[in-house]
Amino acid sequence: MKRILITGAAGFLGSHLCDRFIKEGYYVIAMDNLITGDLRNIEHLFKLENFEFYHHDVTKFVSVPGELDYILHFASPASPIDYLKIPIQTLKVGALGTHNLLGLAKVKKARILIASTSEIYGDPLVHPQTEEYYGNVNTIGPRGVYDEAKRFMESITMAYNRFHGLETRIVRIFNTYGPRMRLNDGRVIPAFIGQALRGEDLTVFGDGSQTRSFCYVDDEVEGIYRLLLSDYALPVNIGNPHEITIKDFAEEIVKLTGTDQKVIYKPLPQDDPMQRQPDISKATNILGWEPKVSRSEGMKKTYEYFKSLPEEELYKKDH
Ligand code: NAD
Ligand code: UDP
Repeated sequence: MKRILITGAAGFLGSHLCDRFIKEGYYVIAMDNLITGDLRNIEHLFKLENFEFYHHDVTKFVSVPGELDYILHFASPASPIDYLKIPIQTLKVGALGTHNLLGLAKVKKARILIASTSEIYGDPLVHPQTEEYYGNVNTIGPRGVYDEAKRFMESITMAYNRFHGLETRIVRIFNTYGPRMRLNDGRVIPAFIGQALRGEDLTVFGDGSQTRSFCYVDDEVEGIYRLLLSDYALPVNIGNPHEITIKDFAEEIVKLTGTDQKVIYKPLPQDDPMQRQPDISKATNILGWEPKVSRSEGMKKTYEYFKSLPEEELYKKDH
């Protein structure tokens, strides 16, 4: 049985990755310090013999017993309000945490895949974003703590690849959504759906002309799975290229939820990227991957999930 360590396992993406690798017959070692995650996302796995959980902060020395074939490093706050609230931890998990996991991968002779992000392109001047684009990041802006941590993460990963001959993979994830996102994590999809469910107006930041391209979680997980098992070490964009303005997206959510909420406008946060759309030619050519779930189908499933949560979740202020 192949053994895989997944960090950030109690979070949104990490928990779906745990499910996928369990389904593929792996022994899954899950690790999380629960700073933005929730054990409820993985509690259904606790009874399995091929699953174990470590409550651990990966910025501290990481060790696990036994052999390891693969490591997926997904631990990191991922939502702007989270990483603005815990900026130092965000920098540390991208830098020190990644260093620890690369060291572990070296000792265990494991292949490691790290979760990078479209944020390494910053407020991009090239559209759509190809992997060759170096990005446009404000190092000292509020979002810099996340963007630069992830850029450092890519650099140190390539250094371990070149200097130590470690088997590494880098996925650049574009906005991904689906069940198990935290309703109050501030990202646009839980924010809008939460507002609709509470009967509040939907808050569009800026004039809403900024764009994003949303990928359903099952597609994202499939792309990550294929990349891990591929022999390609350079970064690969995994995201859905179907782009929409935030203003049009708010209107879509009003229709989806069947509410008569208004869309209201709030100031645009500093350094909020104006456009974002992945060029996925590399993923298509190298991994034979492309997204399959349309936004309307994915959003329906996501809305059903949020609707099924106990009502008090709607009014929770913090995690
Ligand atoms: P999430 O907040 O739901 O999950 C992150 C998990 O990491 C949480 O369970 C949290 O408790 C854990 N964590 C944070 N710091 C830790 C530490 N020091 N030690 C151990 N565990 C720690 O976020 P997510 O959306 O699931 O994102 C997962 C990963 O994917 C992150 O690395 C993020 O940067 C990356 N990513 C996500 C998206 C997206 O759209 N969801 C886009 C780009 C990149
Ligand atoms: N956004 C918005 N209203 C909200 C939350 C977010 O208009 O209540 C906007 C945000 O300014 C950004 C886009 O939606 O332009 C996506 O934001 P999110 O935090 O989901 O992700 P990111 O900016 O990291 O892509």
